[in-house]
Amino acid sequence: MRTVDLIRRKRDGEELSPEEIGFLVDNYTQGVIPDYQMAAFLMAVFHHGMGEKEVDAMTDRMIATGQIVDLSSVPGVKVDKHSTGGVGDKTSLIAAPLAASAGAVVPMISGRALGHTGGTLDKLESIPGFRTNLTVDEFREQLRMYGLAFMGQSAEVAPADGKLYALRDVTGTIESLPLIASSIMSKKVAEGIDSLVLDVKVGSGAFIKRQVDARRLAQMMVGTGRRKDKRVQALITDMSQPLGYAVGNALEIMEVSQTLQNAGPTDLTRLSLELASRMIFLGRITMTLDDARELAQRKLLDGSGYKKFKEVIQAQGGNAQVLDRFDLLPNATGVREISSPRNGYVSAVEAESIGLAAAMIGGGRDTKDDAIDPAVGVILEVKVGEKVDQGAVLCRIYYTKEDHIEEAAEMVEDAFRISATAPEERELILEVVG
Ligand code: URA
Repeated sequence: MRTVDLIRRKRDGEELSPEEIGFLVDNYTQGVIPDYQMAAFLMAVFHHGMGEKEVDAMTDRMIATGQIVDLSSVPGVKVDKHSTGGVGDKTSLIAAPLAASAGAVVPMISGRALGHTGGTLDKLESIPGFRTNLTVDEFREQLRMYGLAFMGQSAEVAPADGKLYALRDVTGTIESLPLIASSIMSKKVAEGIDSLVLDVKVGSGAFIKRQVDARRLAQMMVGTGRRKDKRVQALITDMSQPLGYAVGNALEIMEVSQTLQNAGPTDLTRLSLELASRMIFLGRITMTLDDARELAQRKLLDGSGYKKFKEVIQAQGGNAQVLDRFDLLPNATGVREISSPRNGYVSAVEAESIGLAAAMIGGGRDTKDDAIDPAVGVILEVKVGEKVDQGAVLCRIYYTKEDHIEEAAEMVEDAFRISATAPEERELILEVVG
């Protein structure tokens, strides 16, 4: 079998066999197939898609490049949550501690920033000392002790996703339903789950722009999960404007802290509670979803989720004091205010532009080996539907280097639409699949 022949066949829209897909995944993970050939294959998939059999083969082979974590020694149903990616989307860091504090066991393998969206691992690593490179033994032990552990793809677990994810980020091949589905489902199955709650984002700040495609992606992942005997539910949620107010790694950790203390933005709190409730329900902690909602709310109000997050930060080597003392987090050195050009209502805050601007000033990567600047980002002062006066601050951009700041400021300014009339309200949770 030759790699170039498989690339050409996919380029021409043919379906590949499980053996052929296995050949590509295995050899790329082992470093036999170079980045340029895999990038060409991914671009061919981007253009032609994959059938159900191909997605399942891709997912299975990606899982098989590492181990499926054996969590049989940890009591309880193992349940996780994963998002397809958004701007200001920090719900994992709120929902997971809430669910774990309610008794669920949450093994969480997360990803890094992808395109214009942020990554849970990068957010966690903005906490001084926080280690995401746990070994499988450490991961398992922490789940036994605290019911929650965060780690990244590693040489032991989901190595294929680690490599493909980084390659897709810099080759324009993120926005493909089969590639997103196999990326997410391979690492989730490998982490040893029984159940999974998915947050499929749709809108300008998501990789999927149309609800019909979000539904297809949700069905694809729910189907893959079912065929592997996992209970999977997907929420399709709005990502036309950033979630919450903060976009950027350390800035988002600050907002997570506020939200876990019940002083966070309404949209972020609402979605995090719903995701946590579904985790609690699928984790079989309660008999009904309504009971799970009540329990999640209680864990937010009594500070249990906040306490759980602190315990886990400490267990993974991080300084948990950052949740009370934001000066201990990486802080930006420069601030640029963006003001409203006129009186009116905020009718849109284009999430993709805000995410791209944050990535441009150091929050994202241009090449696979770039380092992230954890301090930079954007804090919105207003959300869609709010009334503003001319000159009112719409948002602040936090930066550490002057490079690209002018371009980023222009992009952020263009992200805001101010209209004479109030826009129609848009639902946050649009659909449930599964
Ligand atoms: N999240 C993932 O883990 N993978 C993707 O491809 C997109 C979002």
